Amino acid sequence: MRISQWPKVNTKWYLGVQCLKCRTPILFALDHGEGIGQPPRTGRLVLTCPLADCGHQADYSTAAVSRFQKQPPATKEMKHPGGSI
Ligand SMILES: [Zn+2]
Repeated sequence: MRISQWPKVNTKWYLGVQCLKCRTPILFALDHGEGIGQPPRTGRLVLTCPLADCGHQADYSTAAVSRFQKQPPATKEMKHPGGSI
């Protein structure tokens, strides 16, 4: 059995869109272009926000696809001062 070492820094890029409700990046695919070139065209794209507090599902077929790098888990979430609806 061979276990490959984890890279020191996760430099992988992911394709994602911003949640229409809470602006959290919703990552839906690994970007094999390593952040170079045009993001691939997506077809019909219905995504659900990964945040338990939000869970907003929307059609992102026409939304702008951006590239994201995964944040370290230690990153603190920004609290919205508006409170819950
Ligand atoms: Zn959301």
